[in-house]
Amino acid sequence: MKPSIVEILQPRLAALDLDHRLKLAREVIPGRMVFTTSFGIEDQLVTHSIFTQGLEIDVVTIDTGRLFEETVELWERTEARYARHIRPVYPQPEPLADFVAEHGINAFYRSVEHRKACCEIRKVEPLGRLLAGASAWVTGLRADQSQAREGVRLAELDAARKLVKLNPLADYTREIIVEKIEEFSVPVNALHAKGFLSIGCAPCTRALEPGESERAGRWWWEEDQKKECGLHVGPDGRLTRGSAPEGER
Ligand code: SF4
Repeated sequence: MKPSIVEILQPRLAALDLDHRLKLAREVIPGRMVFTTSFGIEDQLVTHSIFTQGLEIDVVTIDTGRLFEETVELWERTEARYARHIRPVYPQPEPLADFVAEHGINAFYRSVEHRKACCEIRKVEPLGRLLAGASAWVTGLRADQSQAREGVRLAELDAARKLVKLNPLADYTREIIVEKIEEFSVPVNALHAKGFLSIGCAPCTRALEPGESERAGRWWWEEDQKKECGLHVGPDGRLTRGSAPEGER
């Protein structure tokens, strides 16, 4: 049986640094490649690598309508730094308006179901539209970010979306990323200096308390095992949650 592109890429990517991983993937995978940034520190390093190498990878972001002002400000600084614009994708206005009209503007605090419904409308559906027809999706996921991400590999098959998912920072630690960010003077979110490590929508993200895990500030009012928004799907088509596959960025 012919090895799949993922089987070919995985060992080759493992021996390379971020720049060469992205370059190799672009050479090997035909078709449209999409990188989705939420302007976190990992995503900023990937954006830096794509833009400085001039790789033919679309850099896009999901504007949920509930982003922090600091994130929007970083978006603008990033565009200025690299002299490139980042394409946004927005939620469909009618389903979003219907949801807010029926459940309220901050319904996500009421139950996991309301929160997942909001994530579905504001994130998952727009992601599906922007990945439609793409052959590869590049993310800034790291395996050591949380238990739910332990299984993240450099190259995976996203069976549900029928594309290759590339996580070129899968084996990087936050310390290495911070080092690279400083070395290349990559712009970062002002919220990181205020105790926010993982940054998502403003009403669903808080600063970390000392000793808390990296993603403890996301949907902090929920139990850990329910903290997923549905963007990441495992090889079996189920949502990636490490040891308990089910339902996140
Ligand atoms: S993170 Fe919060 S505001 Fe953003 S889409 Fe999910 S529930 Fe809605």
